Order: sequence, then structure tokens, then C-alpha cells
Amino acid sequence: MAMLMVGMCLGAHAVQPVDFKALHRRMLDEIADTVQRTQAYTGRQRFSPRVLEAMARVPRHEFVPVELRGLAYENRPLPIGHGQTISQPYIVALMTELADLQPDDVVLEIGTGSGYQAAVLATLVKRVYSIEIIPELGRRAETDLHRLGYANVQVRIGDGYHGWPEFAPFDAILVTAAPEKIPPPLLEQLRPGGRLVVPVGPARDAQSLQLLRKNAAGELDVEDVLPVGFVPLTREQ
Ligand code: SAH
Repeated sequence: MAMLMVGMCLGAHAVQPVDFKALHRRMLDEIADTVQRTQAYTGRQRFSPRVLEAMARVPRHEFVPVELRGLAYENRPLPIGHGQTISQPYIVALMTELADLQPDDVVLEIGTGSGYQAAVLATLVKRVYSIEIIPELGRRAETDLHRLGYANVQVRIGDGYHGWPEFAPFDAILVTAAPEKIPPPLLEQLRPGGRLVVPVGPARDAQSLQLLRKNAAGELDVEDVLPVGFVPLTREQ
């Protein structure tokens, strides 16, 4: 018999058991619906089975604050403290899809946040490096990722603007906070053939999720994929 994953949600009147498995399945359906509704923008009719499989495997409720676990499989962002959010599941799936990941890839993520996107990446590639600027978030994500067995993720506290030169070049780079302009070090740390997925724009209501591909000659092709609203990429003082 399949194991039922049950958690408790503290409501005002009663303690309700939550069937995370059923909610998780519904989240996958909602992602599929959103893929359909956004295809005029993204040009993608469906996401690859590998990406959807990763979305099915990673337990999102482990990456949200305990009091919000009952909402963990809603297709929307949720607060994770310090004014930051765990991204909407559809957006996590989209960024992962755009990164076109292969099992041997080495990936850099800027903006660890809850660690959820890093966990999705870690199920798909060889190694994930993730940088978070808020120490409390980065340390908590690192603890959660290791507790859950994601041994191929390394988290660092710092300003992701500079990338992580020691481990460059990267096959893919995902930026999960929005810069006004793409940080040049990230472009430099992308290997030829690599993909950079980044929300770019001056304000939360004026960002475009961009996919940049670097060809063998080092030239960049830029695709605007979808209007999005990420928290800003902040800088170290
Ligand atoms: N990928 C995350 C989403 C987190 S929201 C997840 O799956 O939960 C974006 C995160 O980027 C926030 O935690 C924010 O603190 C972080 N951030 C903002 N500017 C940054 C910078 N310059 N370097 C590293 N992280 C940054």
C-alpha cells in the first residue's frame, strides 16, 4: 500500500489531518493548466517529463513555514520570513524547464530562499551551488536540504551578483531574485552552450523572465519568456 503522507494543520477550531499527497497531485494539475494558459507567451505547450517528475518528487511542504504547510501545494508564492517568498510552483517548473538540464550538469542558483528550487534542481543534475544573501534563510535552507537528503547541494551566504567563480563555468544559472540588469559576472561564468534564466527589470510590476543561451562562440541569444514579479536582487552594502 502506498504510504499516506499526513501532516496536521492547526485551524481555529480543530486539528485537521492534511493529505499532502492528494494536494501535491492537484498542484501538478494546476501547473499543467498554467502551462496551457501561458503558452501564448512562453511558446511552450508542455514541460518535459523529467521536470514534471522532479516537481512530483520534491516535498514543497518541507520548505514552507510550519504554520503555512496546509497551503504548501497551492500554486502560489508564500512568505518564508525576512520579507522573502518561496516562488510559485509553476514558476519553479518554468525556470527549471527553460534551463534544459542534463544529468551531468553543474548549476548555480542565486537566491536560495527556502531551498525549494535548489531541491528541484538537485533531483535533476549532478551538482547545485546556491547563494543566499540573508544569512538566516541560507542557513535554514542548508539545514533543510541536508535533512531531506539533498547531498549534492552546496549553499553559501553572500551576494550572488558576483556568482561563484571557484566552481565556474556553469552549465546553467538560475537567478530567483530580479536584477535591473544582468550581473556581468554571471554571464562570464556561463559555459559555452550554457543557459541563464533570470527575471530582469526595475520594479516588481515591470520584469521579464529572460532565457539567455550562450553559443560555442560565446555569443548570447536572449529570449523574453514571460512577464513576472520577483523580489528584487539586493546588493551587499
Ligand atoms: N529560490 C527561492 C526563492 C527565493 S526568493 C526558493 O525556492 O525558495 C529570492 C531570494 O533571493 C531571497 O531569499 C533573497 O534574500 C535572495 N536574494 C536577493 N538578493 C540576493 C543576492 N544579491 N544574492 C543572493 N541572494 C539574494
